[in-house]
Amino acid sequence: MEIQRQADQASADQFFESVARLGASPVPGATYRGTTTPVALICAVGHPCTATPSSLQRGQEICETCAGPGLVPA
Ligand SMILES: [Zn+2]
Repeated sequence: MEIQRQADQASADQFFESVARLGASPVPGATYRGTTTPVALICAVGHPCTATPSSLQRGQEICETCAGPGLVPA
C-alpha cells in the first residue's frame, strides 16, 4: 500500500506545517495517526493541548486554554 502510505505522510506533513504556522509544536514523540486522532501539542504560549488534524483544517483553535474565556497569560 505504497500510495496509501504516501498520502498519509503528505497529510502528516501538512498537519505539522499547520501546527508550526500557528506557533505550536508537537510534543516529543507525537505522531500523526489520522485526521480524527488527537495529537498532543504545545501551543504558542506553552500550554499542553491536543488537536485533531480535521479540527485544524476547519480553522479551530488548537488550545482550549487560549481559546477559552478568562485567559490568564502564561
Ligand atoms: Zn494555549
